[in-house]
Amino acid sequence: MISRLRASFSSIVHTERGPTRLTALFFSSLFAEHPDFRALFPPALDNLGRRLFQALQFVIDNLDDEERVLGFLAQLGRDHRKFGVEQKHYLAAADALMGAVQGSFTQAIWTPSLTTAWTELIDLVLHTMSEAAAEDDLPATWGATVVDHERRLDDLAIVRLETDSPIPYAAGQYLSVQIPQRPRMWRYLSAAIPANPAGQLEFHVRRVSGGWVSPAIVNETRVGDRWLLGSPLGGLEVDRESGLDVLMIGSGTGIAPLRAQVMEMAMRSRNPRVHLFVGGKYPCDLYDIETLWHLSLSNPWLTVVPVSEEDENPWWHTAPTPEPPPGLHRRLLGQPGRVVAEFGSWADRQIQISGSPSMIKTTVYALQRAGTPAHLIKHDPLI
Ligand SMILES: Cc1cc2nc3c(=O)[nH]c(=O)nc-3n(C[C@H](O)[C@H](O)[C@H](O)COP(=O)(O)OP(=O)(O)OC[C@H]3O[C@@H](n4cnc5c(N)ncnc54)[C@H](O)[C@@H]3O)c2cc1C
Repeated sequence: MISRLRASFSSIVHTERGPTRLTALFFSSLFAEHPDFRALFPPALDNLGRRLFQALQFVIDNLDDEERVLGFLAQLGRDHRKFGVEQKHYLAAADALMGAVQGSFTQAIWTPSLTTAWTELIDLVLHTMSEAAAEDDLPATWGATVVDHERRLDDLAIVRLETDSPIPYAAGQYLSVQIPQRPRMWRYLSAAIPANPAGQLEFHVRRVSGGWVSPAIVNETRVGDRWLLGSPLGGLEVDRESGLDVLMIGSGTGIAPLRAQVMEMAMRSRNPRVHLFVGGKYPCDLYDIETLWHLSLSNPWLTVVPVSEEDENPWWHTAPTPEPPPGLHRRLLGQPGRVVAEFGSWADRQIQISGSPSMIKTTVYALQRAGTPAHLIKHDPLI
């Protein structure tokens, strides 16, 4: 069944506009049958459609790892409570998704065995999500107030918040975020510090050109703004039982979940060794290297290595570049994945990668080419 599902999904992926068609069919069928559901969604559906497709891709790619798939779907179900999604919505979504998948194939390809395989998969997805949502007794959302907004680079802001009550997230997790300037446009952001009883939270946000939400966070967010946060998601964590040392590779704001974890580890007396490669396109993109370097000074298990693709800052970055702190490893040049792979296969490490989807893909590729076993590599879903 897994190979049948993968082959059929792959044919949608490789058909021109196949993914867009599938998600358009899903939403049009859902809203045609249930016009009142439209109010749950933002005006522009492209981002949600992309995330729906990428979530399906993640499930199909990982079907042979049941625990991972069920954990992902349960988190997604808990997170969907922020939309006000109830049981009736899941039943309607199952019908709409089945219709969309079927509508993506010609009649000749849509066989009875494919019908069975997709029915079982969609049932698993929506059943796991709705059950996890029903069983969760934590709030669906948390309110938070912006207490600081620091424009660290022209296109990057560090936003600090205080939540009305503490959110029980694990260091390394990410949260759904809704800002007042962009109602109903939820985006995922990784917490850059561990959870604490005071409910303080920090996000590092890069402005994506042409994006809806990130430019508003970087340019328009003000102290006092009220944000809404959804359930914690993701499973980036150090496996303390494995006995393996750790390799972390982060790029840009992708350092956030790695930073939260090393900060949490710094509160423990014993830790595995951690090599943290901090990457960026330009030297100025290593905007938080000093904090991490300070952390490494008092924690001998932590080694921080800066990496940038270019040796010079771009012409439009006019702020003076601070001298690197004495003792910090010299900055290495190249794509983070390639640079790390030059040291060998790291086959004796548990590995975490965090950054943009393209950075994650190129880094996984570079490591696997160097001989790193796939099962040692972890990253957040590319959704
Ligand atoms: C698990 C996870 C954790 C994340 N954590 C963070 C974080 O800590 N900090 C942070 O700044 N962002 C983070 N993101 C990305 C964030 O969720 C948004 O996707 C990003 O801020 C863009 O949102 P937007 O509304 O501005 O752009 P959208 O309106 O959603 O997209 C506009 C266009 O930009 C493209 N685009 C979207 N994201 C990127 C990107 N990263 N690089 C290049 N093009 C892009 C889209 O394909 C689209 O064409 C995370 C994403 C995931 C999945």
